[in-house]
Amino acid sequence: MSLPLPAVPASPSAPVPQRPRVPLVPVLSGASFRAAAGRRLPSVLDAPHVRLVTSGRIALALALRELGVGKGDCVLLPAYHSMSMVPPVLWREAAPRFYRVDAHARVDLDDVAALCDAGGARVKVLVATHYFGFPQDLAALRAFCDARGIALVEDCAHAFFGEAAGKPLGSHGDYAIASSMKFFPMYEGGALVSARHPLDRVALRSAGKGFEAKVVLNTLEHSFRYGRLPAIRMLLALPMRAKDALWGRIKARRPATAAAALAPGSSDSDYSFDPGWLDKRSSLFARLLLARVSSSRIVALRRRNYQRLQQALAGLPGCRPLHAALPDGVCPWLFPLLVDDAESAFARIRQRGLPVVRFAETLWPGEDADRCPDSVYLSRHVLAFPCHQELSEQEFAWMRAGLLEVLTP
Ligand SMILES: *Cc1c(COP(=O)(O)O)cnc(C)c1O
Repeated sequence: MSLPLPAVPASPSAPVPQRPRVPLVPVLSGASFRAAAGRRLPSVLDAPHVRLVTSGRIALALALRELGVGKGDCVLLPAYHSMSMVPPVLWREAAPRFYRVDAHARVDLDDVAALCDAGGARVKVLVATHYFGFPQDLAALRAFCDARGIALVEDCAHAFFGEAAGKPLGSHGDYAIASSMKFFPMYEGGALVSARHPLDRVALRSAGKGFEAKVVLNTLEHSFRYGRLPAIRMLLALPMRAKDALWGRIKARRPATAAAALAPGSSDSDYSFDPGWLDKRSSLFARLLLARVSSSRIVALRRRNYQRLQQALAGLPGCRPLHAALPDGVCPWLFPLLVDDAESAFARIRQRGLPVVRFAETLWPGEDADRCPDSVYLSRHVLAFPCHQELSEQEFAWMRAGLLEVLTP
């Protein structure tokens, strides 16, 4: 059972013609486990109370449930958002309302205050997103929420690691949520954490053997597709073929829907929300990877790749980084670039098979330039490029050269 989503106009992102040459998201490799030198940044999982679930949106729904959000309540979401943030609010039968962000994607607290004073449903929660890993002004947000008696949920989907004003990201909110898949080489995973409230009421159980197996297989297959883990691939070549045959037979016998429900939609990059995953623990394999994959390497290499992209694209006419600098406490999700003629650049980038993400490309129906012009501008003009830790030197060099060529007039 999934909540219905509104009809969305066909995405302008046509499918890439050939298989992408560079992994858009981290892929597991032997190097994933190797520590790297450099400054350690706190992780959202350092919080005293942690629940590992299968996605960030499930964690958000659980945060709202813990806060007692229900019918007649209002949850404030940013006008610059992922579509996946809205269904958890609707699942609570609460009303989402969208507040403005400015041209740098910072929370517009004047607009938040105006929405709180506007009447109608009682504002109970403010959700604030640390876009691309860059923190919002948490002292101001915390003070605002305390003064108004509103709960603060930090959306750390883009900020698994990081700190602001000497405190870990995720520790200022009543709750924080994270999306492990955006930072770790894994097929599913999200976290609900809190530095303020125990999570004893959030009881989780295994999603079953089929799910556990699917997570391992999908993680490995994704990795093999990009030439990683060759030794394991060789060892598994026969069993994998046996698995394909077995999988084919299972699928033939079961209706397609039953096979698909083995894993949540969040693992296949859609925006669906299925409450059936609310009480499911993240898989054993994903939890093992969270514990074993090197955090220092994720932080160090993402920062290095980000800075290399920034240097390579600096000074090109018609585009500029969303952020002028990379602060010490930030571990970036992607490298966001503001591009004047984004439509044409996007088409050329896709044509070349170069990896690119358009965060918030589709906004919730009705969220237009009248409500928040900056959100609409950002959703149309930010092109974001991978800077993750699993880009090989060769892949990175190819991507950088390609982007430079496409973006040079
Ligand atoms: C991806 C994302 C989420 C949801 O995370 P999933 O793990 O995909 O459910 C929430 N908020 C933002 C800003 C996101 O980009």
